[in-house]
Amino acid sequence: MVFRTKTDRWIENGKEQTCDLVDPDKFGEHDYDEEGTSDCKHFCGCWAGPARSGGPVNPFGRCPKNPITPEKRMVELHKDARDLNDRLEKDFKTINNLENKVKVLLGKVELHGKECRRLRKVLSLHESKAAGEYWVWQGDGNDHLESLSGAVLIQADDLRILKEKSDA
Ligand SMILES: [Zn+2]
Repeated sequence: MVFRTKTDRWIENGKEQTCDLVDPDKFGEHDYDEEGTSDCKHFCGCWAGPARSGGPVNPFGRCPKNPITPEKRMVELHKDARDLNDRLEKDFKTINNLENKVKVLLGKVELHGKECRRLRKVLSLHESKAAGEYWVWQGDGNDHLESLSGAVLIQADDLRILKEKSDA
């Protein structure tokens, strides 16, 4: 492996090369193995591991052997677009799930509200009964339903008659 310093110049492919060319707009990053210590896969002479690193240029900067060509730039842009699309899809799924959960919870809240109102009515009846505050239905034509409020004690037969009248 040839180690070069930052100021070295060398000829490669008939062109003069220099480490000073490591421009972030023109060169991509070094490419090491995920684990352990390895040389950069672009053969730039840099190497890096968990504890130590080195090379002719900054081993964690841009790689002078990894030029960004328009094709590579296009591939990167396409990958970015796909990643963004994937993230958006995930976000939409999360939002959909949350919306469904909110719908279920709202349904439960409505059911609890109905049950609460029903129990209040039952409680109110029992309170009226306990306090003796209720109208006893006479069924003799002297009951004025429209002016009554609160609880009414009524024979089932009389209630059926009232129901038949209202159904008719
Ligand atoms: Zn490299």
